[in-house]
Amino acid sequence: MFLANVSLFDFRNYAELDLGLERSATVFFGGNAQGKTNLLEAVALTALTRSPRTQQAAELVRFGQQAARVTCGVQTDAGRDALEVRIMVNPSASGAARASRRFTVNGIHRRATDMMGALRVVLFWPDDLQLIKGSGDGRRRFLNTLLSQVDAGHAGELNRYAHLLEQRNALLRAIREGRQSTDGLDYWTTALADSGATIMVERQRRLLELQPIAAAYHRELSDDRERLELRYRPAGARIGEAPPDLVSQQLKAAMSDARDEEIARGQTVVGPQRDDVEVWLEDHEARLFASQGQQRSAVLSLKLAELQYLADVTGEQPVLLLDDVMSELDPARRERLLAALQPGPQALITAADLNDLPRSILERAAVFRVERGTIHA
Ligand code: ATP
Ligand code: MG
Repeated sequence: MFLANVSLFDFRNYAELDLGLERSATVFFGGNAQGKTNLLEAVALTALTRSPRTQQAAELVRFGQQAARVTCGVQTDAGRDALEVRIMVNPSASGAARASRRFTVNGIHRRATDMMGALRVVLFWPDDLQLIKGSGDGRRRFLNTLLSQVDAGHAGELNRYAHLLEQRNALLRAIREGRQSTDGLDYWTTALADSGATIMVERQRRLLELQPIAAAYHRELSDDRERLELRYRPAGARIGEAPPDLVSQQLKAAMSDARDEEIARGQTVVGPQRDDVEVWLEDHEARLFASQGQQRSAVLSLKLAELQYLADVTGEQPVLLLDDVMSELDPARRERLLAALQPGPQALITAADLNDLPRSILERAAVFRVERGTIHA
């Protein structure tokens, strides 16, 4: 699988773009605010159905316009597929309802979750350097993205869970305000716990598989000195090897214990939306104790593990999207990242300055200059 072309129409600062891509590496360089990240964002949007930069799809539509379109031509052994995302703005609505998304593959309508897996990407950008020190949000997003790309069914379950969580939280608020009795709560608690347990068991299983891959990269990056460990911290359940129905029971019990708090806050306080993944280096939690360099190595190890895991499990290399990260890495870590590109995956690489990129990449990459939403050879 590789990305053969990208077309944009009124996406961010691109009025119209039609771009063919190399099977190996393509470099996009140019000054600040020219559209380098926007281009990678368009590819990530198509692969993941959501922008990694914003929850508000309306922001993706070019200023002053009502609709945007991204089309990615994906070449597989079986032929070429056109994956298309359309964003339509509804000027009279606000918040998430301000924009709707529509997906098609070869002109045939698809649900968002059925898009997953048609194009797989690993995005690595400066925000990821917060993966270790930042809040659990980033680490949950990392997990959700990885698992959804491995298995579209997981994306469906996450969607289902989010919907159930919204319903249950609305009910908790209605109970708090005296608009509803607690009668209906058990129904939503059971539904939510069952879905949450499915997600948690899958997270545990996949993390156990990802762990040795990430640890091997980190060992190498730390000159054989450091042991990296990923520890799953499910919110409200003890996982271990438990089957889903046992985990579901644990979640239900935790919600029942927290009932007064949940009603007072109008919010469900246990479940996968509160999970975390702790990264440990040599028996110390990296979030609290890792140095800058250790964090960078740990993040790079996680990203390289994501890349390898996707390739191993699906049998296909994902497309690597490297946004401005080469300048953030020191020579040794840069070399490690480069080694993964050879012979490896197709890569789209951005840089403000070509001098930030090693010669070995520039020699074999197609190089384009990005300037105010246009791309020049
Ligand atoms: P940097 O090197 O600073 O990261 P970049 O080339 O990656 O720059 P982008 O993030 O791609 O820059 O953004 C380019 C420009 O796109 C910005 O000036 C931004 O204001 C503009 N932009 C963002 N959203 C829209 C939109 N909806 N319509 C028009 N322009 C937009
Ligand atoms: Mg950028």
